[in-house]
Amino acid sequence: MIRIRVKIIGVVQGVGFRPEVYNLANKLKLTGFIFNDLNGVTIEIQGQKKITDEFIESLKKNPPRAARIDAIIFKEIKTKKEKEFLIKPSKYEGVRQSLSPDISICPDCQKELFDPKNRRYLYPFINCYSCGPRFTFIKKMPYDRRNTTMSGFKMCLECAAEYNDPKNRRFHAEPIACSKCGPALKLIDKKGKEISKDSIREAVKLIKKGKIIAVKGLGGYQLICDAGNKEAVNYLREAKNRPHKPLAIMVDEGTLKKIAQVSAEEIALLKSASSPIVLVKKKKNNIVAENVASGVNEYGVMLPYTPLHQLLIKEAGEKVLVVTSGNLSGHSIIFKDQEALKSLSKIADYFLMHNREITVGYDDSVARIVNKEPLVIRASRGVSPLFFKRDKDLIPALAMGADLKNSFALSSGKDIILSQYIGDMGSASVKKRWLDVRNLYEELFNISPQVVVADLHPGYETTKIAENLGLPVYQFQHHKAHIASVAFEHSLSEPVIGVAFDGLGYGEDGNFWGGEFFSGDPCNLNREHHLAYFPLLGGDIASVEPVRAALSLVLESKINSERIKKIFGDETNDKIFNLKTMYEKKINSPLTSSMGRLFDAASYFIGFRGQNTYEGEAACYLESMAEEAEEKYRYSVENRTILVFKIIEGMIKDLESGVKKEKIAGKFQRTVLEIIVSETLKISKETGIRTVCLSGGVFQNRYLLENTLKKLSKKGFNVYYNKMVPISDGGIALGQLYLLNCKGPTLTKETINVSCHPRSDKKNK
Ligand code: ZN
Ligand code: ZN
Ligand code: FE
Repeated sequence: MIRIRVKIIGVVQGVGFRPEVYNLANKLKLTGFIFNDLNGVTIEIQGQKKITDEFIESLKKNPPRAARIDAIIFKEIKTKKEKEFLIKPSKYEGVRQSLSPDISICPDCQKELFDPKNRRYLYPFINCYSCGPRFTFIKKMPYDRRNTTMSGFKMCLECAAEYNDPKNRRFHAEPIACSKCGPALKLIDKKGKEISKDSIREAVKLIKKGKIIAVKGLGGYQLICDAGNKEAVNYLREAKNRPHKPLAIMVDEGTLKKIAQVSAEEIALLKSASSPIVLVKKKKNNIVAENVASGVNEYGVMLPYTPLHQLLIKEAGEKVLVVTSGNLSGHSIIFKDQEALKSLSKIADYFLMHNREITVGYDDSVARIVNKEPLVIRASRGVSPLFFKRDKDLIPALAMGADLKNSFALSSGKDIILSQYIGDMGSASVKKRWLDVRNLYEELFNISPQVVVADLHPGYETTKIAENLGLPVYQFQHHKAHIASVAFEHSLSEPVIGVAFDGLGYGEDGNFWGGEFFSGDPCNLNREHHLAYFPLLGGDIASVEPVRAALSLVLESKINSERIKKIFGDETNDKIFNLKTMYEKKINSPLTSSMGRLFDAASYFIGFRGQNTYEGEAACYLESMAEEAEEKYRYSVENRTILVFKIIEGMIKDLESGVKKEKIAGKFQRTVLEIIVSETLKISKETGIRTVCLSGGVFQNRYLLENTLKKLSKKGFNVYYNKMVPISDGGIALGQLYLLNCKGPTLTKETINVSCHPRSDKKNK
């Protein structure tokens, strides 16, 4: 007989850990107890060694679906006299409690939802301890029903019995509900008139007729229409003021395979507890209207991740639905009923609503599979807040993040928390949302920052907010923060070579960086090599209009005016003339070394006209078009500056001699890959560093990231990049905290290895 104390660290609360362990211990006839503590759960088990081994094996192999186990630590202790296995009260006493993000509907609840004999048959709010809302319905800590928006719903006798039975799947499932005692759906028109009792069936009927329905989802309102109906999609785009950005779609697994090529890893991610939008390759000639995602070769797809969505998709049959956030483009997702009725009635024809209040807005998360592993592009519903533990106390701090795709981070005690995606700080509604979410986090997690960290950019909204908080402000360079975010995520403290390929970030010399190679201690990076500076004609607006980067680079490359005329033939002469004057007279033309803008220019050459209506649109166009190529363009390096003018020349020459655009795009990508690999080798030769960190928006390009990994790993480098933390600016806040703690209370290597997967299927553990 032995007794073992097991400590489990990670996201293990609010995911059904205690009852599952309780049932496992009972099945194996072990005695002992389990309770929630500050870092996770503590378990003691007692029995035959063979059986306790089996217990631990089983925990490792089959943890609850939504759990993220970062470490299991066990130790043999003295046996005790006891008869049973107990769930003991939690031990927190006023300290910070972590909590799971919202969890997509679990397989057991799915089965019950469609089982006519089950008492929750077709009930749109079915949930259990393994699934359902968590962060979208909590009002304050501790996580307990009375502190959620379900507090007003009194459990019926049957629900209460389930809630109190440790053997039941709904033991302490705080959002527990049934049709007798829980929230209910309502389908109304714009005037608030209920139009049918059979709301799901009627809603789908309307969708099939081409109507747009605003649906109150998990983290806010969504706009839903038939993805096969071009006119409906067009109307939605116009009303939302979102002309080109691909719209996410929702389907069942069967239909998904008809419209897209999906790998086993992509399916696993789609079905995982976080259930994000996953970017998958389109199949040609399918039922989805072209204008859902034109100009790109991928769809952003989701499986129905709540019971409500399950019911809608089931009713829709083979139809694919557009499911996009309920907001006007550039504004925050709407999650309050009154606001939805007011603002969304300009877009939606009907509203499918319910009376479970949402406490904070969450957009859908976005991820893609790279190198067979999930890469988070937007961290929000099902993923955030993202918790990290350190083994030393940290100064209570607020890291502002960046202005685009903002997420902020907080640190206090041994905890670091990254917020959900907030949005682009340019609009007043996003700024207000930022404030609301920050207040909520500071309250929930009981953190009062003593210092604030911001980007170096003096014009950033986030910098201005930081300066007005009345706290000491530390500022760090954007791309150094990018590299530090990788060091943070993977607990690196050794010297690294950092490759930050990005849009624009304010540099230490006042120019706009974005094609940078660094080396050294992540706390103290040296700028080694960078793309040659070129003028950003018109400043910020050059990020919107790729023609500006294209013309600037062509002029820098000394291409003669006859040839220039041909390249820019379809632009108005006035525009080109004005931009040229701007270039020659150096008017409003700050310098940049941005790889993102180089991508813009390349994309322009191969036919991308018009504007970037969302960040990275031109780059997506190029990636979608590119063929695999082995050929590449030449470039040279002088004084640690990477001269790209030969690349521009090469592309223009290819264009002039009629080389296929797909091939030019491929050659361009291959060239960028070459730059990464050969510059890394050079820096490594000089410094002896063998660890590489990749970060920045450009690495959302799958070809570039996968092939960089392949090539550098082959040469024996240890290559790290952001996986769980967004690789674009959504991860900046964590890099800022890392840099802050370099100088202040040290942020040391973790005692544990944080797993690099978003909480997903069990295989990942
Ligand atoms: Zn469930
Ligand atoms: Zn009930
Ligand atoms: Fe960035």
